[in-house]
Amino acid sequence: MSIIVKQAYKVEPILQLVPKCTQIDGDLVRLNSARLLTFKVKGVRCACCGVEGAYFLKSIDRGVTADGKPIPHPGIWYLNLFAVNSNGDRILMTMDHILPKSLGGETHVKNLQPMCSPCNNTKAATLGFAIRMWGWKVYARIVLKRLRRWLRDLEHKLED
Ligand SMILES: [Zn+2]
Repeated sequence: MSIIVKQAYKVEPILQLVPKCTQIDGDLVRLNSARLLTFKVKGVRCACCGVEGAYFLKSIDRGVTADGKPIPHPGIWYLNLFAVNSNGDRILMTMDHILPKSLGGETHVKNLQPMCSPCNNTKAATLGFAIRMWGWKVYARIVLKRLRRWLRDLEHKLED
């Protein structure tokens, strides 16, 4: 798969177009993704380190995916948001599940927040990170929920 990058755009005018797919400079652009909606509703600042999305790049995938399948949405362009860190490096902005998918968190804007890819990669559900991110009460609730499920399963096993 090759990625073709065409053009940079300012953040605000693009977010005003979300969530309607539309033509931008002659290209049909997908603007109805959960990721872009998250940036529109929650802002473009990383919830973890505070780095801020600075510009969008309009891109398109060509060819086939790594496993040889046709690429999804061929012919439709998409926008990636980038921040620039203090070293001048380009950083991809992503969306993060506040309550992780693995714990039943939904892919809905209310459970999504903007996060830069380095923070997202290091998030790795460590206890310290989870408490900093969600506060200890939320973390305690998650642990309780798991404990209750575990106890319920145990009860069922004892009844059998
Ligand atoms: Zn970050």
